[in-house]
Amino acid sequence: MRVLITGGTGMVGSSFKKLKTDHDLILVGSNDYDLRFNSDCKSMIADHQPDAIIHLAAKVGGVKGNSDYVADFFYENIIMNTNLLNEAKNQNIQKVVSLLSTCVYPDRVKYPLTEDQIHNGPPHHSNFGYAYAKRMLDVHSRAIRSQYGLNYVTAVPNNLYGENDNFDLENGHVIPAIIRKVHEAASKNKVPTFWGSGTALREFTYSKDIARALLWMVDGYDGEEPLNIGNPGNTSIKDLVGKIQKIMGTPVESVWDKNMPEGQYKKPSSNKNFVDVNPSFIYTDLERGLEKTINWFLRSYPNVRGCKI
Ligand code: NAP
Repeated sequence: MRVLITGGTGMVGSSFKKLKTDHDLILVGSNDYDLRFNSDCKSMIADHQPDAIIHLAAKVGGVKGNSDYVADFFYENIIMNTNLLNEAKNQNIQKVVSLLSTCVYPDRVKYPLTEDQIHNGPPHHSNFGYAYAKRMLDVHSRAIRSQYGLNYVTAVPNNLYGENDNFDLENGHVIPAIIRKVHEAASKNKVPTFWGSGTALREFTYSKDIARALLWMVDGYDGEEPLNIGNPGNTSIKDLVGKIQKIMGTPVESVWDKNMPEGQYKKPSSNKNFVDVNPSFIYTDLERGLEKTINWFLRSYPNVRGCKI
């Protein structure tokens, strides 16, 4: 089976290279095809003639980037997603697996986050552009399934981390930002400063686990409902900093800047529906995933994405 992976140059996309699979994986990035343009989308599918598509391409950022550039996050994501699903439908691609995010869930919601609640109210104000654009992947996939009978499914991961992440301090995610801050502070004998109070609780999933789950969904999941595929479990940002400092062997000291944003207090998700249909799936332990990510970062620094020195 030929599986085309959009966003193949990103953090999640590049982790597909480490998987053992019988499928023929074709990884593409924005230099190959810019999915904001329908013509690129059309030629990407025509050039590669895939049996299935895993759609990862997105404008992705952290809490600050999402609120500072809320219109750009909405526009770029909604246009890429609409072009991709519509062209896949036009060219009769039978299976598309698209990736959402737990950011799409409503701000006021019953915890844990379950798939049936996705459209039950507005998302958190800090990322409403990105969240509404991502929600439309679910709407559009269901509409194509209903009208054209194509098997388009969606998956919802929580916070992801891994090799080849974006280490930009303003626009990156929490784990790469912490790793970089800890490393740079230690090399200057300084105490690192982190955003917020450190009390916010988050769930983290290693990127290779998400690649494995998505590849499984190509063959193993045909449902209309989105599937939460992230590793549940609540880690406070303070605990996360402690774990990273321990692995990096730096002093366990930190300053917390409460004027900086930290997003929702918590957003635990339930992966029960995923585990029910894929009971043998095993997630990478957080400490083990952090170790692999940190080792890669230390080998690659300063030649990592988002790091301009
Ligand atoms: P990433 O590292 O930033 O990668 C984004 C990918 O999208 C890159 O391959 C990029 O291509 C591609 N892309 C961006 N704009 C494009 C365009 N206009 N045309 C074509 N391709 C474009 O992101 P990631 O963290 O791997 O995220 C992958 C997916 O997971 C996304 O759908 C994201 O919403 C979802 N997700 C991520 C997280 C997380 O914590 N990272 C959490 C939940 C969900 P180039 O690099 O070649 O420009």
